[in-house]
Order: sequence, then C-alpha cells, then structure tokens
Amino acid sequence: MVPREPTVWASLPDWMSFSTIQWIEACPRYWALMSSDYPDIWSKHGYPVPLIQSTLIGKVIHRLVEIILKEFQISGCTSFDDSSSIDVMRKLGGFSRIIEKITDDVLIEYSNNPRSVGKLNVVKKILMDRKSDIRENTRILLSRIFEGKQIATKCFSSVSQGSTLALRNGVFSEVLLVNEEIKWKGVADFIKLTQDECEIRDFKTGKPKQKHIEQLKIYSFLWLYDKQKNPSARPASKLTISYIDADIDVPPLSVSEANVYKDQLIERTRQAKIKITDCPPEANIEEENCCHCFVRHLCTNYWESGLQKIGKKEKPDNSLIDIAVKIVGVHGSRSYDAVTIASTNIPQNTPIILRVTEKFNFIRGTCLRLLNMRINRVDADESNGQLIVNSSKISEIYLMPNS
Ligand code: SF4
Repeated sequence: MVPREPTVWASLPDWMSFSTIQWIEACPRYWALMSSDYPDIWSKHGYPVPLIQSTLIGKVIHRLVEIILKEFQISGCTSFDDSSSIDVMRKLGGFSRIIEKITDDVLIEYSNNPRSVGKLNVVKKILMDRKSDIRENTRILLSRIFEGKQIATKCFSSVSQGSTLALRNGVFSEVLLVNEEIKWKGVADFIKLTQDECEIRDFKTGKPKQKHIEQLKIYSFLWLYDKQKNPSARPASKLTISYIDADIDVPPLSVSEANVYKDQLIERTRQAKIKITDCPPEANIEEENCCHCFVRHLCTNYWESGLQKIGKKEKPDNSLIDIAVKIVGVHGSRSYDAVTIASTNIPQNTPIILRVTEKFNFIRGTCLRLLNMRINRVDADESNGQLIVNSSKISEIYLMPNS
C-alpha cells in the first residue's frame, strides 16, 4: 500500500464521544487522518485499523461476557457456581466453541481491511492459543457481576443498542447513551438497575489508565441526561471499572457535579472543534501519541521531524522501531541493501541490510516507510558491524509514492 494523505479531509463531527475527544485533544491530525475517507484503498469510512492482538482479545472477551450474560438471563442462572450454568454453557456449545465462533465474527470485520491481508489466519491461531486465558478472564469479569449474590431471574433484562425504550430494573449490556442537547453519545458496557442501586460498569482487559475513570464519568453523565433510557433522570449510584485483576470504584457524579461537568464538556467540545478546523489540523508530535498512532505512516510531520524528536530518548535493546529507507541494492526478494532516510535511533544515510519475511520485488531507488522493525544486534556482529533491520510479526511495509 502507498501511504497517501486523504484528498478530502474529514469534516467536523456532528456528534462527540469519549474516543473522538481523546483523539482530537491528543493530536488533531491523528483524528483527521483516522476519520477521513480513502476510496483508493477501501470503501468503508475512515482509515483501516491494524490488527492488534490485545484489542482483538478485548473484543472477544467483551462479546463473550455479553452473550453469556444474556444466556444466563434466559435460563435464570445466576452464577458459575449455579449448577444450571453447566447446561447454559453446554447449550452455547461450550466455552471453547463459543470463543472460536466469536473470534471468527470479530475477524470477519477485518476481512476487507487492506492492513489485514494475509494475516487473519496467523492472528486466529494466536487467539486460539490464548483460549484458556480468554475463558478464565471472562469468568472473572462475570463472577464479579454476581459477587455471589443471587439475583432474581425476573430482574434480568436486555436491550438492543438501537432501542429507545426506558430501562426498567434489570441488567443491560452494550447500552447506547445519548445526550441530544450537547450531541454526545457513548456505549456503556453494562448497566444494572435495582430498587436500591444504579450501577454502570465498564470492562477493561488492559492495564489501568487514568482515562478509564474519565470515560466512566462521561457515561454516568450521559446516562443521567438520556431522556429516553432514563426519563426519570435517576443518577448512577455506583461506577465500576472492572479490570481482570480487580474492580475499581469510581465516585459517582452527583446531579450538581453533573451540571458542572456538562458545562466543562460543552467547553471541551468547542475547543476540540476549533483544533480540527484547519486543513490539515495540527500534528502534535509526542512519543505517547505517535508510538500508538495507527496512521503514523501517513503523517508527513512524523517522518520529517517526529522520528528525530522521539529518537532523542534512549530505547531499550530489541525495541521495535520505525524507519524510512531507500533501497540501494538487491540480494533477493527478501534481502536488500538500503540507506536510512529517517529513523528513531539510526543516523540518516546509514547503510543497513533490510531483511523482510514476505517476498517483494523492490528495485534500486525504491523508498519505504517501515513500521515496527527490529534491529538484531547479533546479526549486526555477524555482518561485520553493518546493521541488519528485520521485519517483526507486526511490521508493516509501505512503498513511498513516486519512488
Ligand atoms: S504520527 Fe504523531 S503527529 Fe502524526 S498523526 Fe500520529 S500522533 Fe499525530
């Protein structure tokens, strides 16, 4: 694929969400590159995202929790300690079978994604090797919902995401929350409503981050002001971030705090929209933004000055690096002589040997942007000190236009 910036940049979003404002505030260019259309490479909206193992595992666990919860509800089963849970899981085909099916469903979403070409089978195998972790982590998250309490069968209920019905007492997953007034929306993983409690719970399969607290507060704000799902404006009494290691309680927003919060969100939205008015918007080069940026291969500023800025920090041996190179000699379809154009920690015009796992037909003069490459120091010794840059399992190789 040739990395090209969009010909028409994304227009201002009508609706704001937690992820949208996070992107814009971190780097307006990132939001713009991710949200523009690329009809030359695919027909869907936005730039295709790469396959990331941790994200895929998180998606599978989220869906597994949702499906099992619904099946428990139908069967009146209230925990994994309940003997009927065996029948429920058997009905679903067993943990192993359901994980496989959900994995297939998740990967189908990537089937037209040009960044996943030739990778889906490999990724599926990796996910299948992690089946026991997925199963165990799902059990942990679900068992915390029940906490050993027996919840009456009639208490369970479910709601489809598009539903506009008011939620009554029950347990609901993947609830779309909307604030029409300030045009914000978000999807809460789980809401539990009982006579005494209104809990919003978010499942997280990664490490704890400060932004997770903010995300949950936004959901509780949206819940309070969602006139359709919560017409009585009942505030959330409990906010929980459910990590694999532990649940974290977040103080719920009172009604008066929510009103202040609303004004803050309105102001943040206004500021965010100003940041993306320019075309293209500002590129905010910071290591914590760029290292996790899904579209850095498209970002001119990153390759022209960002790599040098980020490269000033010491990198641990064997860390993955991004590097732009020009091919100057061909050993074979998987091995080339090249010189560096830009890199985090190799000076410009350094001769290197480029080794890739896939076969290519690069010719002399070809310029490439390479993501997530590895410098192998043992190989460097073997080659009389010349650096060898190898592709890793998650490398991406982009041909520069006109090269
Ligand atoms: S590479 Fe960095 S500066 Fe460029 S869009 Fe991504 S986050 Fe922003």
